[in-house]
Amino acid sequence: MTDKKVLNYDVIILGSGPAGFSSAIYSARGNLKTAIIDKNMFGGQPSNYLEIENYPGFPVIGGFELMQKFEEHADKFGIDKYPMTEIERINLKSQIKEIETPDTIFKAKAVIIATGAQAKKLNIKGETEFIGRGVSYCAVCDGAFYKDKIIAVVGGGNSALEEAMYLTKFAKKVYVIHRRETFRADKLVCQRACRNEKIEFIMCAQPCEIIGNQCVEKLILKDLKNNKNIELCLDGVFPYIGYTPNIDNFIGQVEQNSEGFIETDIHMQTSLEGVYAAGDVRNTPLRQVVTAASDGAVAATCAVKYIETLTQVTV
Ligand code: NAP
Repeated sequence: MTDKKVLNYDVIILGSGPAGFSSAIYSARGNLKTAIIDKNMFGGQPSNYLEIENYPGFPVIGGFELMQKFEEHADKFGIDKYPMTEIERINLKSQIKEIETPDTIFKAKAVIIATGAQAKKLNIKGETEFIGRGVSYCAVCDGAFYKDKIIAVVGGGNSALEEAMYLTKFAKKVYVIHRRETFRADKLVCQRACRNEKIEFIMCAQPCEIIGNQCVEKLILKDLKNNKNIELCLDGVFPYIGYTPNIDNFIGQVEQNSEGFIETDIHMQTSLEGVYAAGDVRNTPLRQVVTAASDGAVAATCAVKYIETLTQVTV
């Protein structure tokens, strides 16, 4: 027997980024009793973005501000919110899904997984050792510590180039290190970064070790054209090399691709009935606020229809 309280919902949404809140809006408007659970503060990854300039309707808006608007919008329809809630166990396979936290067992007819993704590690010597002492994955959080310092940003996508430009507000020099000759980032972003005089690009190079004593002092790169090592003296390393899905709690319960992203059909349904995935956590060709919000709308609308078909189920 457990003395945990039991709470019943129609839909439980895991994750509170754009996919999570969009799901919540559509689910609550579909007249379903809806809860949203996140192990962190609400807002997901975009809360850390300095500016977003490709979410339609907002030519430029701060990431935190945009996510506050998502939350306020969902609040309007009356959802239950559980931020900073650690999940101990999830059972997605039974018809009534169960999510157990330290003090509650949540039961639901449908679950929408919108747990997003997190920064990938370079997995090189010194990286973990120097986290918080020169290695950072969040320019907005840590950039101000690098006033007049030298920094390297690793990666060639939108994140790397945008965050490199942001870091030039503080640093005297920012190296952008990319493993290929061409960038993955949008053309406009590349053009802006190339115009920034504080940025020096090192192409076709791969970081292989971070060295220091108390703090980061050097980054060793392999020049991929001639296999020789390059040694950069610097104060900070910001890897921006993409994301890996946040799926720890339900690994193996739903079908995933080789990188761990959840497979869905066009209805955002996973390999399990009544379980949907939306946003960055799923296998999708584009990971943007707008696509996550769109996924959330599809997932919740399909969850509403699915629940309508469950005539025999009593929670
Ligand atoms: P991304 O587009 O996947 O780019 C990752 C970059 O890191 C690539 O250039 C990749 O190189 C490089 N890389 C990957 N693994 C590496 C490794 N082990 N060592 C060295 N380099 C490595 O990731 P992202 O830039 O984080 O963006 C993720 C998504 O968010 C994208 O869809 C992006 O458009 C979006 N985003 C949008 C905004 C915005 O709209 N404001 C801002 C940020 C991100 P290769 O190119 O050689 O694969």
